[in-house]
Amino acid sequence: MSTDLYTALRTGDRSALARAITLVESTRGEDSGAARELVRMCLPHSGISQRIGVTGIPGAGKSTLIDVLGMHLVEQGHRVAVLAVDPSSVRGGSILGDKTRMERLSQHPQAFIRPSPTGGTLGGVGRRTRETIVLCEAAGYDRLLIETVGIGQSELAIDRITDINLLLMIAGAGDELQGIKRGIMEAADILVLTKSDGENGMRNRRTAGELRQAVQLLPARDHGGRPEVLLCSALENHGIAELINAISEFTERMRSTGFTEMRRHEQDRWWMRSTIEERLITGFYSDPRVQAMLADLENSVVSGTHSPFDAAEELLKIVRP
Ligand code: GDP
Repeated sequence: MSTDLYTALRTGDRSALARAITLVESTRGEDSGAARELVRMCLPHSGISQRIGVTGIPGAGKSTLIDVLGMHLVEQGHRVAVLAVDPSSVRGGSILGDKTRMERLSQHPQAFIRPSPTGGTLGGVGRRTRETIVLCEAAGYDRLLIETVGIGQSELAIDRITDINLLLMIAGAGDELQGIKRGIMEAADILVLTKSDGENGMRNRRTAGELRQAVQLLPARDHGGRPEVLLCSALENHGIAELINAISEFTERMRSTGFTEMRRHEQDRWWMRSTIEERLITGFYSDPRVQAMLADLENSVVSGTHSPFDAAEELLKIVRP
C-alpha cells in the first residue's frame, strides 16, 4: 500500500500527497508501520526546498501575505506547499492553513495547502510537520511556507523545522516593541511590517526605523546575523518582490556557506533526542508501578518526609533498578 502511494506521490499527484499526509498524521497504531515506511522511501528525495517559516499573531496578515507570496512563487515556476504548525489548531474560529483564507493560491494547480492537524502535543504536531515536509519535497514542492501563530511555544518548534523565519508584525500605537516576545524575535531572520499602505504607510516606515535600531540590541542569530526589516503590503502588492529576493538571498547565502546543511543536521539530532525524551517520559508516567506510587510520594514530598530528589530517585528505581 505504501509503495502505490509512494509512486503516485512522486508523480506530483496532489491527492496522493494529501492521503500520504493523512497517513502520517494518523494516530491509529495500525497505520504507523506504513507511515514510517512511506517516509523512509521519501527521505532520499527530500531536502530540496526552501523551508520558510511565517509567524505572526492572529490578524498580522499571514494568510493574505502567504496568498500573494505563494502566487509570486508559482508564477516564477516554483511549486508551493503551505503547512501549518499550531497545536491548538483553532483560534477565533479561523484555522491556520485553511484554504478559504488563501483564495487564489488554493486554486492554483502548482500549490498545495494543508490545514493544521487538530489537537495533539506540540512535539507530536512538530514531528508530523517535519514528516509532512519530507512528503511535500518528495512530491516536488520546492517552496514550503510553514505558518504558525507564534504565541505559546509554537515559535520554538518552528525554529527546529525551517531554514528561514519571517516574523510578521503590525505597527501598533507606539507600543509595538513591547508586544513582541523576545523568543520570537530572536528566532526571526526577517521582520516584515505588513499592511504598509494607506494610513499605515508612514507609521510603518517610522516603526521600521525603530525596529532596525532595536534588532541591533538582540543577540546575533547562530549564523552571526541580525534580522533584516522589510515593509510590504499584500493588498497593494508592493514590497513582495523585495521580500522574495531577501528570502532567496538569505537562503542562498546560508546554503553556500554550509550553514543550512549544518542547521538541518542539528534539527535532525534535536528531533531524535526530543522524541526519545518524550517517549521515555510518557512511558514512565504511564507505567502502572509508577502510577501506584506517584500520589503517595508526592504527598510525602509536600509534607516534608521525603525530599523531592529522594522521591524522584525512588520512582526512577522502578524503571531503572
Ligand atoms: P492572519 O490572521 O495573520 O492570517 O491575518 P489575515 O491575512 O487574515 O489578515 C487580517 C486582516 O488584515 C484582514 O482583514 C486582511 O484583509 C487585512 N490585511 C491583510 N494584509 C493587508 C495589507 O497588506 N493591507 C491592508 N490594509 N490590510 C491587510
